[in-house]
Amino acid sequence: MSVKVAINGYGTIGKRVADAVRRQPDMTLVGVAKRRPNYEALHAAHLGYPIFIAGDGKKADFDAAGLRTAGTSRDMIALADVVVDASPDKTGRENAALYQAAKVKAIFQGGEKADVAEVSFNALANYSRAKGKERVRVVSCNTTGLARAAAVLTPRWGIESWEATIVRRAADPAETGRGPINGIVPVFTLPSHHGPDVKTIFPDLSIRTAAVVVPTTLMHVHVNRVRLRRPPRDKDEVIDVFRQTPRFHVFEAWEGVDGTPQVMEYARDRGVGRNDMMENALWANGIELVERDVFFFQAIHQESIVVPENIDAIRAMFDLAPDGPSSIAMTDKALKIEGASLP
Ligand code: NAD
Repeated sequence: MSVKVAINGYGTIGKRVADAVRRQPDMTLVGVAKRRPNYEALHAAHLGYPIFIAGDGKKADFDAAGLRTAGTSRDMIALADVVVDASPDKTGRENAALYQAAKVKAIFQGGEKADVAEVSFNALANYSRAKGKERVRVVSCNTTGLARAAAVLTPRWGIESWEATIVRRAADPAETGRGPINGIVPVFTLPSHHGPDVKTIFPDLSIRTAAVVVPTTLMHVHVNRVRLRRPPRDKDEVIDVFRQTPRFHVFEAWEGVDGTPQVMEYARDRGVGRNDMMENALWANGIELVERDVFFFQAIHQESIVVPENIDAIRAMFDLAPDGPSSIAMTDKALKIEGASLP
């Protein structure tokens, strides 16, 4: 079976999910919906993606740009088994009525509130809960990073409490209108919304988060202190578990990866996706164990970390793989991120 996938909203996330769908052996991309013609639409045309007109977009604008369109997003939705909605925050909820009317399954992103869908999703944490569902929400980039780490630590040692500071990137690289460009801006919602969002996946997890925004576009960084219920043997046991888990990449001290610039330079050297880092990036020398407290830094590439999760969500909704690990393995092989941490 090949599931027919449509992408509504072709920006930072949508264009990456489209590329990822195209690489999967059990999925077919039926088209992408774009609101306005721009350089991204031109590239979609070069890639051969059928372009449909999203939202209040106008055919005349696409015609004037010389970009051929295949209809409106409604036409695209009619061709699909599932729509991945990657429209701006809160627009997904407005689009939900279109999907319901067409009786197609839909995936929403983290910019929507949890009740837009039947389940909030992360492949390592709760793959099976999305099986057969009609509406699934792939949680945000920061929540995905935290949920993956919770999925590693919880079953092995139990988590008594978790405090995380989210050092947030100010903007995505193409967002010229956002800031700050010189300053560190605290987010005056304490605790921040990220902790409650992780609890949409791990309802019993005791996690509190705070956030500051910093002038970078490269990645987010989480500073974590997790008090475990049972002590690991030593910190090497913790490091090894992260090393051996898919969707984690542990940089060794000798690699000279000082911070997010080198993580993204590694991603550019590797050339996965659009030079993306779809795994949680950890540093072996940035993991410490003090009694039952694990301290670790992790860097999150906001533009791409949710991409494999969208693919696994599709597979779960159509029951295309026996379980989460099998789907993750298929996705990561197709995207060329399998076992990237191990030499
Ligand atoms: P984006 O602004 O880069 O892209 C959104 C695209 O949707 C744009 O091309 C826009 O023109 C188009 N659009 C506007 N109105 C539309 C409509 N009515 N129907 C269809 N398309 C429409 O946004 P993004 O960063 O890709 O974010 C998309 C979703 O993914 C949001 O929910 C966001 O919270 C979530 N997300 C973003 C990031 C990130 O860091 N960029 C990370 C994880 C999750």
